[in-house]
Amino acid sequence: TKTINLKSRPVGKPTMSDFEFATSEVPKLKDGEVLLSTRYVSVDPYLRGRMSDAPSYIEPFQIGKPMASGIIAEVIESNHDDFKAGDFVSGMMPWKETQVLKTDGLIKVDPDKAPLSAYLGILGMTGLTAYFGLTDIGKPKKGETLLVSGAAGAVGSVVGQIGKILGLRVVGIAGSDEKIEMLTSDFGFDAGINYNTTDNMVKAIGQACPDGVDVYFDNVGGEISDAVLFNINKFSRTINCGAIAVYNNTEAPKGISPQPFLVKNSASMQGFIIFDYVDRHAEGIRQLAEWLQQDKLKYTETIREGFDSIPQAFLDLFKGKNKGKMVVKV
Ligand code: NDP
Repeated sequence: TKTINLKSRPVGKPTMSDFEFATSEVPKLKDGEVLLSTRYVSVDPYLRGRMSDAPSYIEPFQIGKPMASGIIAEVIESNHDDFKAGDFVSGMMPWKETQVLKTDGLIKVDPDKAPLSAYLGILGMTGLTAYFGLTDIGKPKKGETLLVSGAAGAVGSVVGQIGKILGLRVVGIAGSDEKIEMLTSDFGFDAGINYNTTDNMVKAIGQACPDGVDVYFDNVGGEISDAVLFNINKFSRTINCGAIAVYNNTEAPKGISPQPFLVKNSASMQGFIIFDYVDRHAEGIRQLAEWLQQDKLKYTETIREGFDSIPQAFLDLFKGKNKGKMVVKV
């Protein structure tokens, strides 16, 4: 079966030459195992970290071995009582078109309740990241100003909408006018800033957030987040969710120091990873599903076609080619 391996550890920006298209044997089914056919593959910025061998919260991919990510697959054959042919499952799986796996870590998903790809986004990791990051760490209060970077992506677009549900004024930062238009017209954001056409981000943030920033949901880090510091309010909370702007750096970035801004404003910054909330996933999914059903929450996806397009879809995250969740349909 078709397989995509890590070929080399990228230095700086990853490229197609870091991936290897290969084939692998599909073994015979043993007791307790299922034969799976891949349907949707999630590509995510954090996979960049696993392509390096620097110590992290999740182990690195091995050279010559398959890459892996969140996948929705169809059960083709089953040797486990809880799964039958025709079921769909979600889990962290290697990038293979067909594979045999043990069932631990696989969760059944219902295609009648939501489109299958939604279980990788709004009803999956990125939806939960938005929900717990904003509500638990951001501690948002009605009437406050929420600023979101990476606002048109999978996490950011959901963060902003939850902010609106909770009664905040929401401003998004993203990389194109088309994305800003989507945020304000489709997702209810109050304002947006295109960082690619803005010379003075400190000033632009000040204008878009005339009452200052109470909650900053940071998906990008780097210079954009430095500019936010000049606009934070007393007792503001910054949620460090991701830092895609610096994932490909080969040298330590020379940013400004946030400490004086935090001291002066009695402000806080807190990182988190979604695995911290594994015990509360069911609660998060329930809330997100309820908001979806009530039409309070919307989502968009960028869907690429074909197993072979997985690496390019991943690389395109760093060029901002996606709106909402980037997934590959196999
Ligand atoms: P997105 O859907 O947001 O895709 C990435 C987006 O990042 C692109 O569309 C692009 O949009 C933007 N981007 C790319 N390069 C840069 C850059 N140099 N500067 C500013 N923006 C850039 O991905 P996700 O929603 O999946 O992830 C968003 C962030 O959240 C990532 O940093 C990710 O690592 C993090 N994350 C953290 C988790 C956690 O547990 N803490 C879990 C999941 C995600 P644009 O056109 O606007 O530039």
